[in-house]
Amino acid sequence: MATKGPQRRQGISTVAVHGGRQANEPDTPVVEPIYQSVNFTQEIGRAVDVRYPRYGNNPNAEIVQRRLALLEGAEAALVLGSGMAATACALLALLRPGDHLLASRWLYGGSFQLFTREFASMGIQVTLVDPSETRGWRKRMRKQTRAIFVETPVNPTCRVLDLKPIRYLTQETGLALVVDSSFASPVNLRPIEHGADVVIHSGTKFLNGHHDVLGGIVLGTASYIEEVRQKMMVWGQAPDPFACWLLERGLKTLEVRVQRQNENAQRLAEWCASRPEFSAVHYPGLPTHPDHEIARTMMDGFGGMLSVELAGGASAAEQFLRRLHLFAHAPSFGGCDSVVTEPRFSSHEHLSAAERRAVGVPDGFVRLSVGVENADDLIADVEQAVT
Ligand code: PLP
Repeated sequence: MATKGPQRRQGISTVAVHGGRQANEPDTPVVEPIYQSVNFTQEIGRAVDVRYPRYGNNPNAEIVQRRLALLEGAEAALVLGSGMAATACALLALLRPGDHLLASRWLYGGSFQLFTREFASMGIQVTLVDPSETRGWRKRMRKQTRAIFVETPVNPTCRVLDLKPIRYLTQETGLALVVDSSFASPVNLRPIEHGADVVIHSGTKFLNGHHDVLGGIVLGTASYIEEVRQKMMVWGQAPDPFACWLLERGLKTLEVRVQRQNENAQRLAEWCASRPEFSAVHYPGLPTHPDHEIARTMMDGFGGMLSVELAGGASAAEQFLRRLHLFAHAPSFGGCDSVVTEPRFSSHEHLSAAERRAVGVPDGFVRLSVGVENADDLIADVEQAVT
């Protein structure tokens, strides 16, 4: 829905502040009120348009859904109770027992467990594909394959996938291309512009941006989002009104936050890359990054996430974490406050050391979520932690 004003595509921050609001009437509150009610009066003698938050139609959910659809360039959006709820319901709306999913091997641990443990027990077959293998997707396609699921940029290795060849394949074969874009936010990447059919976000991360709400988003065509909503209703995965309100408020500063986080992460990555204490720095904004060219052409910013490998291995990583002051040791990401995590004790704790190494997360690997603080202060904090 367009906000009042000229019918041209508005800038991200304008949409992030105003998108999805009804035109102002006299006495309209500037800030959206919280509809802290789970019960709404219903028209007598009619079962349509019943408002009940589990159906995804609380007014706070509806406004943030309209705004997110505008930000991603999607027909429709649905807000759910968490990023995992979004991934689960998005795929349950696409797949039936007997169907086959091709998923990138470079995956967030929760998605990996959902696909390999839960989907397998529901009769949905999943094949994990190494995205760096040429023609890997095509080789593993089956008659029953319905969708391709990828995450980009990848948590926590910061690899960036080229969506172009995958898009050619899904368009040629009629598969759905599903992209988890939680690491990017629509400021840096809008996967629908690159051929994605479905976009998923953990709203807990950059979209909220303040480490104070759990939420997830699915975006796609209106008819598909209606299917996801049906799953959300019966599996009970809807968000509460206050979570939607916090998400909507967080969105207003999305662009200014993410641009600052991009700048801070770039500076910190360049600084780390110049230091012997780090044996590797993984940031798509560095020309040495294996996907720098892909990121440069596909993304509007390189992101606020970067990972480093401490030259001294696991013990050096532990000492680093203990010495940091501004970076809190905490597993989530994307907020104003910088945080740091060691994936072997969070998202990748279910893997053995060898398996972690194989997916690019060796001992000594630490992921930084760079916040909006002053870049010099962040660099000074990292410097005192390694010297
Ligand atoms: N997708 C990615 C890439 C993530 O990193 C995460 C969580 O860290 C999720 C999805 C799941 O999000 P949530 O924790 O909101 O369920």
